[in-house]
Amino acid sequence: MTLAGVRCCKTGEPARFDDCIHCSIYGEPEPCKHPHALLVAMRDNEDSREGAGLSASGLMQCPRFEVLKKTYPYYEDPDDYYPRFRGTILHGGIEQFSLNQEGVISEVRYFRELDEVRISGKMDEVLPDYMGVGKLTDFKSGGRRKLHPDMEVTPDHAAQVNVYRWILEGNAIPIGMASIRYISDTTMQEAPVKLWSIEETEEFIREYLRKQDQSSLPPILPSTYTVSRRTKETTEVRNWRCGYCPLRTECDALPREGIT
Ligand code: SF4
Ligand code: SF4
Repeated sequence: MTLAGVRCCKTGEPARFDDCIHCSIYGEPEPCKHPHALLVAMRDNEDSREGAGLSASGLMQCPRFEVLKKTYPYYEDPDDYYPRFRGTILHGGIEQFSLNQEGVISEVRYFRELDEVRISGKMDEVLPDYMGVGKLTDFKSGGRRKLHPDMEVTPDHAAQVNVYRWILEGNAIPIGMASIRYISDTTMQEAPVKLWSIEETEEFIREYLRKQDQSSLPPILPSTYTVSRRTKETTEVRNWRCGYCPLRTECDALPREGIT
């Protein structure tokens, strides 16, 4: 089951993509802040990944969500989709202006198999010979992060880049250094990514594949806990992904741990 439509930002009700796009263009039944390009991107996102197999970015998604979405149709609020739309715009711009010349590989999808699962990655920028080593760079929207020279990449971003590297190595493109260029509204900052061993990367991928195994439902993503200085009360803070998850109601209605 893929994204079935939009959860209207005004009524909270599910809407078909065609109706929502019509509403965006013609302002009927009422004007909406969402441009139709965002809604078209939501509608066509899955199509653009056709044939991509399991993508490196897909490995960063919640395994429970990936299992649930095969059972439940889901609808997403365009506001929740917006951060991903910003990423799509960013990558579209990079693709448009990248040099198409020898020595620069940009936005090319590569594949590699692990345990008979086809995994793919479309890297933003690969320089096979950057001062004698292969260099891999991924671009990320900085969002609200404060960008500074000593900043560290997030664990998710580090994992994604290491999976990219693993895929490239399987395609005879060795990578000796990797980084993320974070781009905010006003500036950009490059941050290095620590490279994992091949074994570490394969274990990371296998761990995801084990969790996505259809015979059981993966557990809810781990929460963090905060303790109030004043009352000493502990508050559970759900994983940030759950805040944007279109299947949270269904997820919470099921057992927290796997059903076998
Ligand atoms: S364009 Fe906006 S108001 Fe219209 S259906 Fe879509 S989300 Fe709702
Ligand atoms: S609510 Fe959280 S744990 Fe549940 S499926 Fe969504 S992202 Fe995963």
